[in-house]
Order: sequence, then C-alpha cells, then structure tokens
Amino acid sequence: MEPVHLVQANASAAASRPLSAWLPQLATARPVGAYVHVPFCFHKCHYCDFYSFVDTKDRQEAFVDRLLAEARVMSGLVHEPMQTLFVGGGTPTLLADDRLLRLLRGLRELLPWAGGAEWTVEANPETITAAKADVLASCGVTRVSMGAQSFQPALLQQLERHHEPASVARAMGLLRSAGIARLNIDLIFAIPTSTLVQWQDDLAQALALAPDHLSCYGLVYEPGTPLRARLEAGGVERLDEELEASMYEHTVTTLAAAGYHHYEISNWARPGQECRHNLLYWEDGEWIALGPSASGHAAGLRWKNVAVLQEWLDEGPWAPVRSVEALDEDGRIGEAFLMGLRLLDGMHEGRVQSLLGRGTRAVRRKAAIDAAVARGDMVRSDGRLRFSERGVLTSDSVLRDLL
Ligand code: SF4
Repeated sequence: MEPVHLVQANASAAASRPLSAWLPQLATARPVGAYVHVPFCFHKCHYCDFYSFVDTKDRQEAFVDRLLAEARVMSGLVHEPMQTLFVGGGTPTLLADDRLLRLLRGLRELLPWAGGAEWTVEANPETITAAKADVLASCGVTRVSMGAQSFQPALLQQLERHHEPASVARAMGLLRSAGIARLNIDLIFAIPTSTLVQWQDDLAQALALAPDHLSCYGLVYEPGTPLRARLEAGGVERLDEELEASMYEHTVTTLAAAGYHHYEISNWARPGQECRHNLLYWEDGEWIALGPSASGHAAGLRWKNVAVLQEWLDEGPWAPVRSVEALDEDGRIGEAFLMGLRLLDGMHEGRVQSLLGRGTRAVRRKAAIDAAVARGDMVRSDGRLRFSERGVLTSDSVLRDLL
C-alpha cells in the first residue's frame, strides 16, 4: 500500500513507453529513496484501490527476476547513498520466504545504501511466521508496517478484510523476537456501522501492543472499489460526519496522552520514530519507483509504472510507464503546499512567502491562507505556518484552494 496519492496534473494518457525515454531529463536526478510495489494479495479487500490482485503463486519467481533487473538499470540514476526503502503493495510478505530473501538481498546489492538506512516492509499479520520474520531481519529490514485496520471482527468483515485480530499481536511478537523493533500499526476509522466506543477500543488495543508509530486514516470510498459500489447501491451507509470528526478528535487526544507526536494529518510517532520514507514524500524529496504501478519523483518529473503485471513482466529492464508529468511552476507550488502542510509542524514562513511570490495563482493562495488563519484553522507561530488541530479536520478544502 503506497501511503501517498500523488497529484495527477497534466498527465499524459499516451501508450506506455520505457522510462529510459526520459533519461536526458533524469540526468539531474538525485533520488535518496526507493519505493517497491509487490502486487500480490491473498484476498482483495473491498475498500482497496491499490494495484493488487489475488496471488496464484505462478508469477512470484518472474516478478523477483524482473524487479531486480529493473533495480540494476535504475541504479544508474542514483548518485548518492540511499536513505530509505519502502516495500509496499499488495502484500510483500506474501512472497515465499526464499523469494523475499532474494528480492531484499538483491536490492541491498544493486543499490548504494547509507549506513542506518530505513528499510520498511508492509505486512499482513497472517503472513508473518518466525521464518518470515527472520528473513526480514537478516536482510536488514528495520521497520515493519502492519495492516491491522481494526480489532473488531464485525468491522473487518465490513471491509472484507481477511485476518484474525489476534494475529496482529502474534506477528508483532515474532518480529520483535527476530530483532525488528520499529513497528507501525495501520488503523481505519469511520467504517460503516462503527461506533465511537468501537474506535476507542481499537485505539486501546493498538496502544496495548506498544507500536512506535500509528497511521489512522478515515475510510475513503474510492471509485471503482466494491465498497463504493455497495455504497452506491445502498448496501452500506457512510458514517455521520460529526461522528467521524469525533473519532478523529478522540485519536488526537488519546495518542497525545500516550506520548505519540502527531506529525502528519494521519500519522503519529514516538519521538524520533517518524517514517523517514513518508517524510521524503511530504518534504518534496526524490525517490525511484520499482514494480508495476509504482510512482517515482526525481528531477522535476513524476512518473507511474504501468499497473498491469503481465505488461510490466513482458517489458524491461526499464519499466514501461504510461504517465510522466513535468509540473509547471504553478503545479510545483501547489504540490509543495499540499505536501508541506500535511505535516503538523507546517512550513517555514520564508518558504511560504517565497512560494506566494511566484506563479499565477498567488492572490488566490494568499487569500485562502489569510482566511484560514482568520478562522483559526491555520496558525502562524515560531516562524511557521501550520494547520491548527481543529483546522486539520477541514484541511482538504483549504489545500484544494492552494493547488
Ligand atoms: S491487503 Fe492491502 S493491498 Fe491487499 S487488497 Fe487488502 S488493502 Fe489492498
């Protein structure tokens, strides 16, 4: 699961071409992170719009071969030690142990890694065995992101999510025994039929497992998903907005009281345990993308590899890409606001003023910020501009005006 949805502006819908067609523009790339997309899952959850499908196990071997070939050519774009790797999906830990080992060892050898680089792998709790945890630890994985979503069986069923709530604690125990200390728990609130009491219980159960990081997202009814179809057919009802806001407010106060730093709209960490890879996205850094549907950003370009496994397998070693975009100045300014203001520490005033001094939408952007400050939804303090805790709830509409 890739945590950031990229802004798609000026995207071309042309037929796919290999990324190597953009090598002249990528000559100035300075990526310091890599995102790897593993598309296999053992079941398709009803809310999920990530590129993933039920694994028939017959293409795992070819996937690893192809991905390492891609890493080999992409290493030519890397000129300094890489700081972060994020292996998402899909369910990377669904790869058989020997294939996961080969993939991670290959990535270690083919790309230059900084000492202390953060390596995160996403996991479904049911896929973690002692052997799998040992593979992850022995390959230098420093962080695992666990898709728990809820500890209420009835709510997991609403999402068509197939795992036992108790498996989360079991998997975290195995990972810790193997030596992986940095663990994230992903939770979803505002699931249809859920109550504030259930959400309070979800948070309490997650905190009892002492993760050093929590991601809590309100459920989104993404177009094209079975859940959205059920919503449109009247099979499920969206939760009341006020109840959803209460759940978010409860999250903010509960996690603050438990010692977690609210550093991004949907992310909390113990001090120093923020996800460095996600910070790369939010701080406008550069990263390479490997695997079908993976998105990369470097040298002013954003690209997305084709989201069809067989097409990606059949071509290579450069990934076939269908959309490459070079944002114009207004696009870059809008995106800098969109990403930078998701962080609760906000942005330096100097950077804000510099961005407001350029582009054709400066007047509209300045008015949107002034209005948000006047309403108390944004605050200016310590030389920074940021959303207030209350303003975070309505940040989407302000961010839209800043695009
Ligand atoms: S496990 Fe994650 S990636 Fe796979 S279908 Fe469920 S939500 Fe999507």
